[in-house]
Amino acid sequence: MSAVIPIQSAGCETLPVKSEKGQREVFCGLTGIIWLHRKVQDAFFLVVGSRTCAHLIQSAAGVMIFAEPRFGTAIIDERDLSGIADANDEIDRVVQELLVRRPDIKLLFLVGSCPSEVIKLDLSRAAQRLSKVHHPQVRVLNYSGSGIETTFTQGEDACLASWVPELVQPVTTSKTLMVVGTLADVVEDQLRTLLHKMGVSQVSFFPPRRSTQLPTIDASTQYILAQPFLADTARCLEAKGAKRIDAPFPLGAKGTTRWLWAVAQNFGVSQALFDEVTKAPRQRAEQSMARHAAQLQGKKIFFFPDSQLEIPLARFVQEELGMTLSEVGTPYLHRQIMAADMALLPPGTRIVEGQDVDKQMDRCKSDQPDLVVCGLGLANPLEAQGFTTKWSIELVFTPIQGYEQAGDLAALFSRPLTRRLKLVA
Ligand code: SF4
Repeated sequence: MSAVIPIQSAGCETLPVKSEKGQREVFCGLTGIIWLHRKVQDAFFLVVGSRTCAHLIQSAAGVMIFAEPRFGTAIIDERDLSGIADANDEIDRVVQELLVRRPDIKLLFLVGSCPSEVIKLDLSRAAQRLSKVHHPQVRVLNYSGSGIETTFTQGEDACLASWVPELVQPVTTSKTLMVVGTLADVVEDQLRTLLHKMGVSQVSFFPPRRSTQLPTIDASTQYILAQPFLADTARCLEAKGAKRIDAPFPLGAKGTTRWLWAVAQNFGVSQALFDEVTKAPRQRAEQSMARHAAQLQGKKIFFFPDSQLEIPLARFVQEELGMTLSEVGTPYLHRQIMAADMALLPPGTRIVEGQDVDKQMDRCKSDQPDLVVCGLGLANPLEAQGFTTKWSIELVFTPIQGYEQAGDLAALFSRPLTRRLKLVA
């Protein structure tokens, strides 16, 4: 059997997409610091915000008090708000103290928040000023993690988009592949190994593990997204000449196969070599999902909009686990980036962009799904009403991409149902 599963265009253009604007229940972009600081090992994320911002990232990251985390908060207090203290002087002082104490930091992100935006603190000028002071030991960049009109995965998008201008041209021009989006190191290693076996050897990952190992970029760079929430980053990469390889996201056996095949086609890999390289891991992925698919077959699932992973996840649970889609909510719909996954959704799938949480709750109650994927804020109220829930943020924190993670990804959907069965038994 051929390893390549064609994308049958069932519907990107034909799927109806409903837009809603109303009350939203989402985390802010500061949340991205949790996975970004683990990935980039010489970067530090300094939030310029309030005590609320500090509490959010500390509790989300589960920081132990004796650990030296690579993020912190410069608290904007009453003295800054009333103009008694100059906020820029305060930032300069905090950064100076931090860099003296932590010489391991090579890249510092000043991360804006709702409070810093409300008082119109210009962090881009602060970053430029501090870069000059601390160059060449430390590079200082800035982005916004504010929760005003954003959702939590946009923090990574804003971070990477702010970083793209730092990517320089290669010394020699040759066709290269850049995989874009934070992946767990173990996933990155697995994908790199598969690509190398296919003969795609010029592969870089963005963000890199160390800020000093930045990929280069020019018109011969082909990039492929590993995360679906990176629309601004994609625009910035294309402005530098890189070309996007269109593919469904690498979730499950079929998603990963299609993602890899899209690369293979762009790099002239033969079907025979592709099949040889992917056959064994693909079969392992199928076997690891089988038990969960048997449990989830025919179960109805409802996605509230939260992570922007909803459409690729809907494709995965419907196509590879046999679940029935009740509603697929997404905070934002980037049609080009989602086109390949949307084309694989069954005709008539109810996709909703944006949120009006009360109306959505009503539809959820009317549909009576077996499983609801939602943000933390909605999980408890829904559980209290008898629904079984899965926190969407877990699907961002957990390594889920690639063949070897397919079973773990399937388990994230079957485990809440198993737990519910035990509770009612
Ligand atoms: S950035 Fe805004 S939404 Fe996020 S924790 Fe701070 S105040 Fe709250």
